[in-house]
Amino acid sequence: MTVLEKPPYIWFKDAVRPWEEATVHVWTEAVVRAASVFEGMRGYWNEQESRHYFLHMPDHMRRLADSARVARIPRIVTFEECLGALHDLLSAMPYREDVYIRPTLFLEEGRYSVGGSPDDCGFFVAIFPSPREKSITSGLRCQISSWQRADDASAPPRVKAAASYYNLRFARMEATSNGYDEAILLNRQGKVAETGGASVFLVRDGRIVTPHVGSSILESITRRSAIELLTAELGLRVDEREVERSELYVADEVFLTGTLCEITPVVDVDGLEIGDRKPGPVTRELQERYYAACRQGQADRRGWLTAGPVLPGEDGSRGKEDGL
Ligand code: PMP
Repeated sequence: MTVLEKPPYIWFKDAVRPWEEATVHVWTEAVVRAASVFEGMRGYWNEQESRHYFLHMPDHMRRLADSARVARIPRIVTFEECLGALHDLLSAMPYREDVYIRPTLFLEEGRYSVGGSPDDCGFFVAIFPSPREKSITSGLRCQISSWQRADDASAPPRVKAAASYYNLRFARMEATSNGYDEAILLNRQGKVAETGGASVFLVRDGRIVTPHVGSSILESITRRSAIELLTAELGLRVDEREVERSELYVADEVFLTGTLCEITPVVDVDGLEIGDRKPGPVTRELQERYYAACRQGQADRRGWLTAGPVLPGEDGSRGKEDGL
């Protein structure tokens, strides 16, 4: 698992601040009752243009708004304000590489997490370097968890709330202590849901299957992009339906999709080898399309990318675009 390096700066409340200065009192709703919602978005570094491109930023901001609505946390930032914060923060940072971006809304005041006014709410954006995971070529070994994915009646998985990760943490801890890389959780009905950070797909006899959005899963943005690429560009069929645990055992390919893990093959489930323990042909073809799409820069024709600020080179020279 990647250990995150402490960045020099963070956007906290209304400005770029040194990392150490972003503090709250321990008695905040965010600390005592996990009242916060967040997004995880990637910024892909484009060397030629000397800037990052944010993948699916409007979708991430929409999901942040939806999460805040469900959690009844005032939404105190607009798309433009968040984009402005990203520009200011990236301009202050030394990162000339791919990054992971975490905009977060949290409640400071309020009783039982019912915040009254925007003054009760805080906002921060943290950015970390995020190199590609090695597991995209080596694959992951997954264990079906004995922990159940929380459902809509207890902690809605559709939205991205910090509190949901309490549930997912149990599954991760169990899988890693049993020597696996990742956990796959089943839902209340005993059907496949998702991992602690990704959606699950399987391929069997040329048919691609993934749990439908009512399966106690996050409404994942990468999952939607993967379905778009598989169907509209690769001409394959994807069935969104209930998926049984044993379907994973007999699949030709299993792969995960998510912002951080991108498209990651699964090579083992519960000790049963998947395919020949190597990424299968559908996984590889999807990886190729997805990685190319994320790195299109100005040539993006799918509308997936939002441009970040042009940053000076490490030697202080201006980015290429400034010379135009
Ligand atoms: N499920 C969970 C529980 C997650 O945390 C994530 C990562 N955000 C995903 C699925 C994948 O979602 P996305 O493609 O939007 O990153």
